[in-house]
Amino acid sequence: MAPESRAPERLDRAVIFLGPPGAGKGTQAKELAKLYRAPHLSTGDMFREHVSLGTPLGEQVKPIMARGDLVPDSLVLKMVRERIERPDCSHGFVFDGFPRTVAQAQYLSVLLRQNGYRPPLVVHFALDPVLVLKRITGRRVCKVGGEIYNIYERPPKVEGRCDNDGGELIQRADDREEVVAPRLQAYEKLTEPLVSYYRRLGRLHDVDASKSIDDVREQMLEIVRNSR
Ligand code: AMP
Repeated sequence: MAPESRAPERLDRAVIFLGPPGAGKGTQAKELAKLYRAPHLSTGDMFREHVSLGTPLGEQVKPIMARGDLVPDSLVLKMVRERIERPDCSHGFVFDGFPRTVAQAQYLSVLLRQNGYRPPLVVHFALDPVLVLKRITGRRVCKVGGEIYNIYERPPKVEGRCDNDGGELIQRADDREEVVAPRLQAYEKLTEPLVSYYRRLGRLHDVDASKSIDDVREQMLEIVRNSR
């Protein structure tokens, strides 16, 4: 049976995608959100939009992102709270890139309780550090629709052009090799502790993110279906 026909219900909860940059969280979060018709909440995408629109928040976070550092919790949490309190989130949503620190996770659990949600489901994308580097430096993103490619593992049909809309494929400013090291350090120091945090709470489910996109998608959907 096609996965689409097996997922008519709503998510009715927060699903968190946790893992190093380049592990495939964005690709799979978009898939899950589409399948369950739930909002895909990527804090990285939200910040990039603020930067490209030149909003005051964008001006504040631009140099931080360019260095590969994490944006301070105060800015992230305000943006997330405002977003999940919008009506389109009332039947569940998919977080991609949030929470990134234990403090963010603790705040989120209060926020979810206050808004009547059950505890989140956490999908952990486990990936060997060597592959992480290849995934990040090979990533290209469509300037028009945001579709994600990888020049090594998922190249477009025509070099530099999106298969969907022909949009130009670009490399994210923070995917350049010189910014990758600080991003990975931030992940190891601040975000990786969330793996044991959520595991202790019994919320964490691992996927082997080294597999193909289709395989990872199946692992991920299996977890979501089995933890209703
Ligand atoms: P991402 O697209 O998830 O890799 O995020 C890109 C950049 O946005 C990160 O390197 C951070 O500078 C910032 N960012 C995104 N999400 C968060 C978050 N939850 N906490 C702090 N900074 C974040």
